[in-house]
Amino acid sequence: MFVDKVKILVSAGKGGNGAVAFHREKYVAAGGPDGGDGGHGGSVILQVNDHMTTLMDFRYRRKYVAASGGDGQGGLRTGKRGENLVIQVPRGTVVRDAETQQIIVDMSGDEPFVLAKGGRGGWGNKHFATPTRQLPRFAKAGLPGESREVILELKLLADVGLVGFPNVGKSTLLSVTSNARPKIANYHFTTLFPNLGVIYVDEGVSFVMADIPGIIEGAAEGAGLGHDFLRHIDRCRLLVHVVDVSGSEGRDPVEDFDKICQELKAYSVDLSGRPMIVAANKCDLLAPESDNLQRLRAHVAALGCPLYEISAATTMGTRHLMQVVAQQLETLPPITVYQPEYIKPLVQAGDPAELEIDRYGDTWVVSGQWLERLLADINFADFESRNYFDRQLHRCGLFRRLEEMGIRDGDTVSVYDWEFTYEK
Ligand code: GDP
Ligand code: MG
Repeated sequence: MFVDKVKILVSAGKGGNGAVAFHREKYVAAGGPDGGDGGHGGSVILQVNDHMTTLMDFRYRRKYVAASGGDGQGGLRTGKRGENLVIQVPRGTVVRDAETQQIIVDMSGDEPFVLAKGGRGGWGNKHFATPTRQLPRFAKAGLPGESREVILELKLLADVGLVGFPNVGKSTLLSVTSNARPKIANYHFTTLFPNLGVIYVDEGVSFVMADIPGIIEGAAEGAGLGHDFLRHIDRCRLLVHVVDVSGSEGRDPVEDFDKICQELKAYSVDLSGRPMIVAANKCDLLAPESDNLQRLRAHVAALGCPLYEISAATTMGTRHLMQVVAQQLETLPPITVYQPEYIKPLVQAGDPAELEIDRYGDTWVVSGQWLERLLADINFADFESRNYFDRQLHRCGLFRRLEEMGIRDGDTVSVYDWEFTYEK
């Protein structure tokens, strides 16, 4: 079974917890806090592997979890970083958010992509030591890693897609013109998964051609196999429509041609508008009295499609056809790479729900992504900048939340490296 669409769940590793520890040494009376930070959790990363041509490997495994970070330890030892989990995918895998169906990334290039980011390790108690609080008895817990459900969909990267009824000779054409060795047999649906072949036309001139399983009538409505496979030619720059003109199966080439065109249109208007070259195949079997070729020629000429006579089995005309295809490709835009549509919901500036508040006696430790970013912009030596920080904290409702949680005058509020005394 060929698998070209799967839903998987990816979870990045949780960050390790920060440690609460105190330095202990003989003859050193009061050692300071020395709890190390938790290690960051591992991320889930996607990477293209050109040896893969299907999503088969994902069929029996639906959950991918990266390692958590280790907890911090005494002696300022930072926890071990969680190892990243690298998921290999075939080139041309389009990743969508399962909920919104939006494209997250098109894995067509070589750049790895971070699909789920590992959680930050929590700070050890060393970070919370101040001149007035020399022995902080708390540390931060690690943050959870990102987790998301995604759909992987394979849309092969081929310049040319072969379309046509089953048994018309698509696989044969690919095999005689390229390095690919698809299965060829005289029955329908021999091709159960797409084959890709590289065709070398001349020095420095080559292209990739894909042979997809035969499209059958009603394929676009989901009847039979064809429908699923049409997505593999979504990206093709040019279609070669193979038609059996010998009538060896008792079918009519003009009818065949129209039916396939209808299927393409029903699947996607965009695809049906793709430039098309007609390959009139099995010319070696053409009976002298048959008018099949003439009728097809007149029919497609009226539609503006060039037609070439070939016999894939005897390679008659195949080389010339490939040269024509290469020439035509030179005039066409490059293969489509899908742009991401999914934009990670950004943490809204000052979203109070995003702030995390932990209480340790009379100390309140506040943290959060937005706060971290805000702090990076603040110059605490500057009065204006400090004022701005204060306003932001008020605006985001931090103080309201602290009051709701029972903060009292004189308590300490700890915000990363900064601390202040709370006064109403
Ligand atoms: P596909 O289903 O379109 O991929 O068709 P195949 O390439 O598997 O071919 C189907 C059958 O037609 C096989 O038995 C081939 O040997 C035969 N065939 C393909 N091209 C030609 C041709 O040009 N001439 C003749 N006589 N037979 C052909
Ligand atoms: Mg085939």
